[in-house]
Formats: sequence, structure tokens, C-alpha cells
Amino acid sequence: MDTVIPPPEPVLLRVAGETRRFPVRRVYCVGRNYAAHTREMGADPGREPPFFFMKPADAVVGNGACVPYPPATADLHHEVELVVALGTGGADIAPEAARDHIYGYAVGIDLTRRDLQQVAKDRARPWDTAKGFDNAAPCGDIEPAAKIGHPTRGAISLSVDGHPRQRGDLADMIWPVPEIIAHLSRLFTLHAGDLIYTGTPAGVGALRPGDRLDATIDGLAALSLTVGEAG
Ligand code: MN
Repeated sequence: MDTVIPPPEPVLLRVAGETRRFPVRRVYCVGRNYAAHTREMGADPGREPPFFFMKPADAVVGNGACVPYPPATADLHHEVELVVALGTGGADIAPEAARDHIYGYAVGIDLTRRDLQQVAKDRARPWDTAKGFDNAAPCGDIEPAAKIGHPTRGAISLSVDGHPRQRGDLADMIWPVPEIIAHLSRLFTLHAGDLIYTGTPAGVGALRPGDRLDATIDGLAALSLTVGEAG
């Protein structure tokens, strides 16, 4: 099929131990899924149903990327998160069946223009400009669940220039991964290639040009990136 303009390049993530890549379809994100982070954001960590926002698929960048400091912010924040990569889709997925849809897991960072998010919260506006900007979804190499299983506990951490900033445990998620998939699949028909960022532990903070980030989750390939100059 000829197209009147060039079609977009597919967004592809590396898979550990594989030469084949993982094609990204949609990027869903969960808000406030660790109580300690919910409190640091000034919200009540009661067990309300999970809520979601999205990032464009082409905001995904892989391990080792240099992310230019984004425009329109003076408060770019890091949020280290477990990323779930779906291998098959569906709607109304039961929590007990959710793992059957998971291809693998990766370490991700939900980059956030915190100042724009605060304005959005104050004025009851959408979060898109705070969360969905270019390069806002760094994601490391995917580890297949067939190889590593389904992590439900273990350290999740992020350091900046070697200094620890965020530290938590996957076991502290308010909504575990199967429940997240079940809730999300009642809102959207999920598909192979979808990524789900599952929320961040406490310790989020500001980044500056030149910072080096190292994000880790026990059992997964580490994700490292640098923040470049504005541009
Ligand atoms: Mn987040």
C-alpha cells in the first residue's frame, strides 16, 4: 500500500537473549500505586481503584539513551517503574488469567514534567503535557516471563550519578500486576505490544542536564540513561 507521507517507524525494544525485537503498540501507566509515593505527592493512599494515563508509543526510548532535557519545564522528575509487556491482548481479562497475557518485564522510567502536572492537577486539566512528551518513556530490555517468571517482590531502585534516590519493593504495590491488567482491560481492549508502567515507589525528584540515571529491579536488566542539554 502506497502512503501519501512516509509511515512512522515502528518502535522496537530489545529482548534479553533474543535477536528479535518487541514492537510497542500502546503505553499505559498507573498512577499512585505505592503508598509511600502517594503520600509524598500529598494524596491519600487509600485503596481506590487504580487510575490510568497514557504516553505515546513513540515516547519510548531504550537502554543507554541520552534524553534531551525537555522544553517547557523547570522540574523534570524521574519515576522508576516495573514495566509489563503484553504478548497477547483481550478485554475483561480476569485477574487469574492476566499472567497468560504477559510476554515479559522491563525496568522503565516514567519521566514527568512535575511543574506542568501540578498546574494540571490544580486546574483539573489532563496530564498529557506532563506525561506524554517526547522521550518520556525510557524502557530497558525486556526479560521474557518464559525465562524469569513473574516478579512479585524484590528491590526497585533508582540512583542519579551514583546517589540513591528511589528505593522500594515490588511487594509494596497497592494494585499487583494481575489486578492492574484486569482493571485496564475493562477500560480498553488490550493488545500484544502494549506496555504498562505500574507506578513508582517514593523518592521521586528533579533531574538536571548531565545527570546519569541507573534504574534497577531485582532479576531484570538494568536501565541506564543520561539527561542531555535542552534541545
Ligand atoms: Mn508514574
